[in-house]
Amino acid sequence: MAAASEPFRLLVLPGDGIGPEVIEQTLRVVSALSGGMGRPVHLSEALVGGAAIDAHGVPVTDETVARALKSDAVLFGAVGGAKWDDQPIALRPESGLLRLRKELDLFANLRPAICYPELADASSLKRELVEGLDLLVIRELTAGVYFGEPRGVEDLGNGVTRAYDTQAYTSVEVERVVRAAFEIARGRNRRVCSVDKANVMQTGGFWRGIATRVGADYPDVELTHMYADNCAMQIMRRPKQFDVIVTDNLFGDILSDAAAMLTGSLGLLPSASLGASDAQGRRKALYEPVHGSAPDIAGKGLANPLATILSFAMCLRWSMDAPAAADRLEAAVRSALAAGVRTADIAGPGETAVSTAEMTDAVLAALG
Ligand code: NAD
Repeated sequence: MAAASEPFRLLVLPGDGIGPEVIEQTLRVVSALSGGMGRPVHLSEALVGGAAIDAHGVPVTDETVARALKSDAVLFGAVGGAKWDDQPIALRPESGLLRLRKELDLFANLRPAICYPELADASSLKRELVEGLDLLVIRELTAGVYFGEPRGVEDLGNGVTRAYDTQAYTSVEVERVVRAAFEIARGRNRRVCSVDKANVMQTGGFWRGIATRVGADYPDVELTHMYADNCAMQIMRRPKQFDVIVTDNLFGDILSDAAAMLTGSLGLLPSASLGASDAQGRRKALYEPVHGSAPDIAGKGLANPLATILSFAMCLRWSMDAPAAADRLEAAVRSALAAGVRTADIAGPGETAVSTAEMTDAVLAALG
């Protein structure tokens, strides 16, 4: 860990659409918390996504990647918009985010699904099934079928073609994400559910074997295994049975979105992507809301800033080693919601919606 007085270097990448709006509000929170975080925060900002394409011709410059590598964490807004949709894939706004994830080797994607009692009726499930839900899906982010080689489309002759991807994991790739899940579970309810398809896939049995071996190092954490299809059903049936779910890239992509929808709104969902720790105990990390750049509401002051504010709370917890400040910020968000403050995305019938800045005002007021 860094010395307490050493500044925490936070690289801020607002991006496009509502990205700059929600980041601006989150920085008000960062500044209000300063003094309570144990370390001063040194902020620097750069362009990413469409904004970087317009200014530099690429969705993230080498210089910004180098700055991200030197930072203690990255706070990311959102990227994308119709203006850049016709670009080739490598020059699309989203490629900037993918490059950052790859260069920082962010292998563990943390997606909490928390259901606040005040918003339980916005969930697609009945209140009693979701109220009080606090589930964390940890998705492996840098390997598996989205990256495995070979991949392609081939001509088999006689008018028949064949497409294929490769699901592949090394033991190192499985072990590091499973170990992260056990470490994180120790700060929660000490239960890890490892999800695979050990019944039908080579990589499934392999994943399960490694999870079992790593689990032996954590006798204080309960380990269970579940097949991915059953997990999808259980998330819909009885989501509160879970504490931490750890799974591969493909299953994690699907299960984290399914779990997210139990909570009501995209505007409330934070995420963290963590890399390995270095010799000083520092790990690369990127914090971002789950939502995109929401072009339909950009520039109107309507966006819900809470997903980004809660992403910064994750930064306090996982990068700044300031769990008390994280708890305080999360409590302030809960109390703003309990007071009935709602942006348009979470306002119920008859409820008046506040602006992006007014929602932040309510969080700041609750922070005291
Ligand atoms: P989106 O998440 O931007 O928006 C989906 C819907 O949710 C929209 O109706 C939007 O108004 C609403 N919404 C999203 N965030 C909100 C918030 N904070 N407050 C209130 N309402 C909110 O997804 P989309 O419309 O599919 O994609 C729009 C653009 O964002 C595309 O260019 C897409 O590629 C990009 N995108 C980027 C990221 C990212 O930067 N990580 C993620 C997803 C999509």
